[in-house]
Amino acid sequence: MRADVLVVGAGPAGLAVAACLRRRGIEALVVDRGDAVGGSWSARYDRLHLHTPRIQSALPGLRMPRRFGRWVGKDDMAWYLRVYARHHALEPRLGTEVRRIERDGSGWVAVTADEKITARDVVIATGYSHTPIQPRWAGQAGFGGTVVHASEYRSAGPYTGRRVLVVGAGNTGAEIAADLAEHGAAEVSLSIRTPPNVIPRQLGPVPTTLMAIPMDFLPAWLVDPLNRLLQRTVLGDLTRYGMPAPDLGVVAQTRATGVTPTIDVGLVAALRASRVVPVPSLERFDGPEAVLIDGSRLAPDAVIAATGYATGLSPLVGHLGVLDERGVPLVTGPRAAPGVPGLRFVGMSNPLKGQLFQIGLHARAVARAIDRDRRSGLRG
Ligand SMILES: Cc1cc2nc3c(=O)[nH]c(=O)nc-3n(C[C@H](O)[C@H](O)[C@H](O)COP(=O)(O)OP(=O)(O)OC[C@H]3O[C@@H](n4cnc5c(N)ncnc54)[C@H](O)[C@@H]3O)c2cc1C
Repeated sequence: MRADVLVVGAGPAGLAVAACLRRRGIEALVVDRGDAVGGSWSARYDRLHLHTPRIQSALPGLRMPRRFGRWVGKDDMAWYLRVYARHHALEPRLGTEVRRIERDGSGWVAVTADEKITARDVVIATGYSHTPIQPRWAGQAGFGGTVVHASEYRSAGPYTGRRVLVVGAGNTGAEIAADLAEHGAAEVSLSIRTPPNVIPRQLGPVPTTLMAIPMDFLPAWLVDPLNRLLQRTVLGDLTRYGMPAPDLGVVAQTRATGVTPTIDVGLVAALRASRVVPVPSLERFDGPEAVLIDGSRLAPDAVIAATGYATGLSPLVGHLGVLDERGVPLVTGPRAAPGVPGLRFVGMSNPLKGQLFQIGLHARAVARAIDRDRRSGLRG
């Protein structure tokens, strides 16, 4: 099969790219391995609302309805993606998983289970949070309780009355810990390896992630002292509740590790009420006990690994030399990496201003770049 532009993935990034291309008169074939548009959002945990406000989360060419409120629920997000596809007359080919991208003369060929799709340009939009990272701790086989990745968590119901150890204090771990504490878990411990920067969701009426837009351009030494002051003034000294202090400020930590701050949507209240107890990093299991890095022990009934995601891009494009050691593309957005003209990535970075906002910027820029290449005869 031949396509002019192939977009792999029909999540927010893939749909936004295809919509921006269509506005320029360029048709893209969008393929997705899932069986429904918005599928990745409907499958997320019940409590989830976007941490970026509605106006910072809409994709190019379609506002989100006011009735979604400021903080958009995950089912509204899934609904929005379906409406977005219809609004832009996009009809992704579902149930189509691309397994590998190869060169094909001056273009590309995408290999799926049962066919090859050739295209002049390929945009990879398979998601930064693609593959759950599920550590395997020593002694885990002998632990009688359940161990699941946070991507499998839906609600606190199954954990009522149980002692739960949540591993990882990023946005997902912190929110799941708060959810469990608010909905009847007997004990909630939050295991922390890298101390997070916890920040409020809004300052007065202003969403924090909106304030983060200029921070992506400013030096850490300039803004982090201010961030620290705001964190202390609004949330107080969280070390009083056992939270270890982060080594770096908000901007420095994001740039050094790719990990954005933990936005408070219930964690701080749960810490203050001692309903969530921070504990050191989980090292191993010893029978029914979880052994922490400082030698202390817990006896949880369940462990939820909020240990993040990998891009899962290696089988797809690892052989093309376009990924760094974490499997993240070296170049994202409108530019193609050297030596791979016509191959681009959207949605593969994690900036402070929010991925959805970044996806909108990159989708427009990618469409512009492909259009410009066509017009200049570079790749037409
Ligand atoms: C829990 C959570 C909360 C988040 N909250 C926010 C927020 O508040 N604000 C914000 O800005 N961002 C947020 N993000 C980050 C980001 O905006 C979302 O993950 C968003 O869905 C990313 O869009 P995407 O299109 O890049 O990836 P995805 O939504 O992951 O879509 C990728 C699509 O590619 C498909 N696919 C994958 N591999 C293949 C393949 N090999 N072949 C074919 N199809 C494939 C998948 O089926 C999927 O449909 C959040 C992320 C998570 C995990």
